[in-house]
Amino acid sequence: MQGTTPEFIRWALAHECPLRDFPKWKDPNKTERHLRAIRVYQNAVQDSRVLDGIAIEPLVSSDVVPNEVLGFRVDDVFEFYGDPSSVASICEPCPANAVRQSDSQAWVGCFGLMPVSNIVLPDLVDEVPVGTVDLREQLELLLTQQPYLEESIRTCFPRTSPEWYGLWISRVPSIKQRQIQLQVVNELLKVVPCAITPPWEAFQSALRLSVDRKIPLHIQLVPEAVTDGVYWYVDQHCGRCCAISTALTHTGQQCQVCKNEGRPREPQRRFVRGKRPYWKMTRFLGAEGTSKYLERYLKQKG
Ligand SMILES: [Zn+2]
Ligand SMILES: [Zn+2]
Ligand SMILES: [Zn+2]
Repeated sequence: MQGTTPEFIRWALAHECPLRDFPKWKDPNKTERHLRAIRVYQNAVQDSRVLDGIAIEPLVSSDVVPNEVLGFRVDDVFEFYGDPSSVASICEPCPANAVRQSDSQAWVGCFGLMPVSNIVLPDLVDEVPVGTVDLREQLELLLTQQPYLEESIRTCFPRTSPEWYGLWISRVPSIKQRQIQLQVVNELLKVVPCAITPPWEAFQSALRLSVDRKIPLHIQLVPEAVTDGVYWYVDQHCGRCCAISTALTHTGQQCQVCKNEGRPREPQRRFVRGKRPYWKMTRFLGAEGTSKYLERYLKQKG
């Protein structure tokens, strides 16, 4: 799994709830780490990949190597949260469930990752296998057409070039700032030359809920990165606006995007988030158990 990851906005609505009972629960990264497995479980249910309390990864062909196949026990994922029905009863009425605005089944919809660039265009797949839309560029274009929007950005956010970065410098934007961020995202999604993908929609809903229901929103801009499947490498970037520091964007003493003085942050290396909660099925079912499970699963799948 080599490749690049786009710039992201990591977000989480800071709404207190029994599922977010962990240290630094407002932090978007911590929230994702703690709750992502529930989404992974829900995806498996939606794809009919749960049988006898065990979820199995999507199979590319029925020609499976039992020793390689990945899965997880549903009970293991829910160990910390009760069970699926107790999660449902917490998340269904939750005012911070932004994902539920577009997917009525969704639980743990209070956090997400919104890609900023290098997005596959699902509606153009036939013509362009991997197209790119860059919200940073889309914003520059938009502002040339909507000077009043540019004006309100300039009054409420630090000045940056491109203006995109100024919008996300504050980790916990004020309600006034969230109103403008919502306006920006609404306008951007009207003009992007592709279908609106679910992660965009979720962020838009999160901003709307955070404004309408006055729920604080926590944001982290994550710079684009390269991965070799094990690690994830982020280049030097500005510690304030998080723009990648190149010869064009940083003098070594000053960020040219946000004018912050000081050296850029050193390159970072982190583990990729991996396949959790999936792991080798043979590790928890044994070789024979896995073969039997696969037989049953493939049979009912037809
Ligand atoms: Zn809640
Ligand atoms: Zn929640
Ligand atoms: Zn900067």
